[in-house]
Amino acid sequence: MGIQRRQTRTVRVGEVSIGGGNPIVVQSMTNTPTADVDKTVAQIRQLVNSGCKVVRLAMPDEEAARAVEKIRAQVDIPLVADIHFDYRLALRCVEAGIDKIRINPGNIGAKERVRAVAVACRSRGVAIRIGVNSGSLEREILAKYGAPTAQALVESAQYHIGLLEQFDFTDIVVSLKSSDVATMIEAYELFSERFDYPLHLGVTEAGGERMGLIKSSIGIGSLLAHGIGDTIRVSLTADPVLEGPAAYDILRALGLAGGATVVSCPTCGRTRIDLIGLANRVEQALRAEPMTLKVAVMGCAVNGPGEAREADIGIAGGVGEGLLFKRGKILRKVPQEALFDELMAEIEQMRRERFSE
Ligand code: SF4
Repeated sequence: MGIQRRQTRTVRVGEVSIGGGNPIVVQSMTNTPTADVDKTVAQIRQLVNSGCKVVRLAMPDEEAARAVEKIRAQVDIPLVADIHFDYRLALRCVEAGIDKIRINPGNIGAKERVRAVAVACRSRGVAIRIGVNSGSLEREILAKYGAPTAQALVESAQYHIGLLEQFDFTDIVVSLKSSDVATMIEAYELFSERFDYPLHLGVTEAGGERMGLIKSSIGIGSLLAHGIGDTIRVSLTADPVLEGPAAYDILRALGLAGGATVVSCPTCGRTRIDLIGLANRVEQALRAEPMTLKVAVMGCAVNGPGEAREADIGIAGGVGEGLLFKRGKILRKVPQEALFDELMAEIEQMRRERFSE
């Protein structure tokens, strides 16, 4: 059964639409010094190649903000400026052609400053993400709840939203990140019961490559499975180029993005072919597969033929050989050494058929 997505407003970020039932947008963030234009542009290009549709840049100071115009001129992807406290950096980035700013209006001081940012953003069609984070909640809200609970995160978001709405600014995306997965899930659920602003999902400070992906899969994945979420970022303490593919793996696991999914068994005492090696090769070869495809790589005849038949194409292993299935039918028996090549040749054939239709 498909996932029923919750209805949210649509917010434009450059050429990309977030929310309103549009495909879930994968984003990431550079970790080069933003002021170093060459390095930042090179990394943005890597992120684009890894599948990101929106890229965020840290904007710690004037020097970084001055680089935005030069960066903007060299890449097409929508760019987001990540700003804390200094509203002048926001104004400068809007002028330099940024597509979205991440700023919490409650942290920039006087009402006049909030108004200036709202007016500038509206005049250039720039969206604002309110990024509530468990590590930087307002003191009064933290005192009221005693801890960065889900309710506290939602109240903080409501406060920041109110500040922008009083200037009729509603091109808002919201995130409610917590390093605690259960809190993050609860906060997004609570928020989506009350508001229809599109949601940027993420587990903050999720950890290294392995644990970060596990926490993100649980947090982001649980929400997506319940139809919540319009754009996602998998935060990893690792090379940012790993974040996009990880985000797509989460989306694919839920049937929310195209590409290939590989169904493979864990192997057991019945396995008589090198299934682990074969499954890894197949998964690697289909990482960037443009065609939506389910491929089964199964060890034996117990669950093998069933899964292989359910898939678009598949293998059920035997003793030193395997049965090749395609669209529910047995094609032929193939010796173990030829299984990978023959499977790939069949997939190539499917690709030709699908893309010539
Ligand atoms: Fe074992 Fe066969 Fe199941 Fe694979 S499909 S785990 S080989 S019983």
